Amino acid sequence: MTSQPSFTLRAILLLLLFWLSATVFANTPIKVGENERGDQKTGHARVLHDSRGDLDLEQVLLALKAGEFGPLASAGSTGLKTGAYWSHFQLRNPLPRALTLHLEYVDHQLIQLDAFSRPLGDGDFTGVASLSMERPFSHRLVEHNRFVVPVTLAGNETREVLIRFGSRESGYAFPSMRIWSPEQLEAQQLRETTLVGFLFGGFFLMAIFALIAGVVSGKVLFFVYSLYALSKISCWATILGYTHQFFLRDQFHWSLMSSSGALTILLGLTFARMFLQTRQYTRRLDYVILFMTANAGLLLVAAVFQIKILALVTITLALLLYPVVIVAGLVRWRQGQTEAAFFSLAWSFLVMGLFLQAFRDLGLVEHTLFNYYWPPVASFSEMLTIMFAMGFQMRRVYQDKKSTERQYREHLELSKSRLEAEVRVRTRELEQAKRAAELEARTDPLTGILNRRSFLHDASLRLKLAQRKQKASCLFMIDLDHFKRINDTCGHSTGDAVLCQFTDTIRQSIRATDVFGRLGGEEFALLVEEPRDSAHALAERLRNDIAGIEILTGDKPLMLTASIGLAFTEGEATIEDLLMLADGAMYQAKMDGRNRVVGTQGYIRIDDCLR
Ligand code: GH3
Ligand code: MG
Ligand code: MG
Repeated sequence: MTSQPSFTLRAILLLLLFWLSATVFANTPIKVGENERGDQKTGHARVLHDSRGDLDLEQVLLALKAGEFGPLASAGSTGLKTGAYWSHFQLRNPLPRALTLHLEYVDHQLIQLDAFSRPLGDGDFTGVASLSMERPFSHRLVEHNRFVVPVTLAGNETREVLIRFGSRESGYAFPSMRIWSPEQLEAQQLRETTLVGFLFGGFFLMAIFALIAGVVSGKVLFFVYSLYALSKISCWATILGYTHQFFLRDQFHWSLMSSSGALTILLGLTFARMFLQTRQYTRRLDYVILFMTANAGLLLVAAVFQIKILALVTITLALLLYPVVIVAGLVRWRQGQTEAAFFSLAWSFLVMGLFLQAFRDLGLVEHTLFNYYWPPVASFSEMLTIMFAMGFQMRRVYQDKKSTERQYREHLELSKSRLEAEVRVRTRELEQAKRAAELEARTDPLTGILNRRSFLHDASLRLKLAQRKQKASCLFMIDLDHFKRINDTCGHSTGDAVLCQFTDTIRQSIRATDVFGRLGGEEFALLVEEPRDSAHALAERLRNDIAGIEILTGDKPLMLTASIGLAFTEGEATIEDLLMLADGAMYQAKMDGRNRVVGTQGYIRIDDCLR
């Protein structure tokens, strides 16, 4: 045992002291001045929860007397409760002259606010303001997008103020009022409106830009983004009270706040699904996002038809599932969609904003101007970052397209050069084959010299050339003598060999310009560009060479001879004419005993031809 007071006792004493000071300070009037800048907040120190929302002023005063008012447990918010809240506080004007103050309700989401006041402890409370979101905006005493209660204090007066914060459904209230002098509140409102104007201008520019991009590219994604940006303007303008103040002064209904929010969520999710292409690439996450979209649709229905419980469930679900989109973005990023990382970042801004708002509404975080404007600013950053992400996506698509084109071009060039090489090879082969075929068609297969047709063709050309140069030509018709005998005695193959030996012998003795060919069997023809005498001499020499060919057979060697008929021309005879004449001369040589040369008389002219 110890004489020191125990820990529990000390804790109890401390709590008691805290409660006492809270009660005493709560009752202390707030000293106000001429230049109030909203730094002083009041209303949260002495609060009464009217859970059914049906207490009248008299009952509330009784509760006040009975000390039923107490400080609010949470940081500014009442939390999600039904009914109404009453708040009591005192304002003291230390100045000798009268002072008008503007008490500003800190949030936009309140349906009904009633204010009463009286000089401290003196007489009845009288109503100073009855503000409702369900009434035309013109009934408001101060032109402000949030509820503002004007209170006038006489010189050196302390006034009690009683405010009722009422909501139609179970919702959040912040029984807290900022104290302003009228001019300061006006200046502050200008600052806030400037910020909101900047954000809305940004949203509008993004919407227009996306619209143009959509029209130019024909991509639906841009149109959805444009609608999303426009819906953000309508959503935040409605939630922050500007729609009521400027556009629907007489027809505004508080359910528009949730419906415009629901529409934005719906468009945001539709955009996310399209941008991340979850349907193609992450099927399971896509189902979740689809479910979220359906949920947002339900929220819209609940908002339009004011189905409170459905609205509450769907909005909670929407908020809880919002991080799924961040996950989807990260998954897509890992799958290779670089810009999805930006998208996740953008969505994180939004989710952070919404969660901060939720924490504030649940009373975990105090209501401040910072966290009041954080969600719309986060929403703006989200749009801006998504814009970047779309830019990156366009860049990537463009680069992918370019590299595909390059690959295609390279492939095309490669196949083209391959094809060209193949064509070159094939052309060469074909040319070779053609040359071989031509050669085959032109030559005699056994001896390799010109065949009859080619001889006639080449000899005819050669003859014309000589005629143009006015040179004499001579056609030799050579027929081997008794060739049949060689075949008969030595065999056909020896006969073939003899034919080859014969052609070789002739070829060795003639010029390259002479035309030599086999007309058939053992009959050959030779065209030379020579005058009569030298042609005759050549014929004799050839005859002699032929006679010199020895054919080696089994026992005694066989001799080969040939009869040669010559036809001369200096004029315009054709090769056929010469052939006929040379053939006649050759026949004559045979008749004369073979192994001899017989020439026609003189040069033949065209007139001499035997036609
Ligand atoms: P002539 O002195 O009257 O010309 O008598 P020849 O035997 O030479 O003439 P003929 O026209 O009676 O016979 C020609 C022979 O040439 C007949 C044929 O067997 C032979 N012959 C024709 N072409 C070829 C060939 O390509 N190869 C061989 N081995 N013999 C051939
Ligand atoms: Mg013959
Ligand atoms: Mg013969």
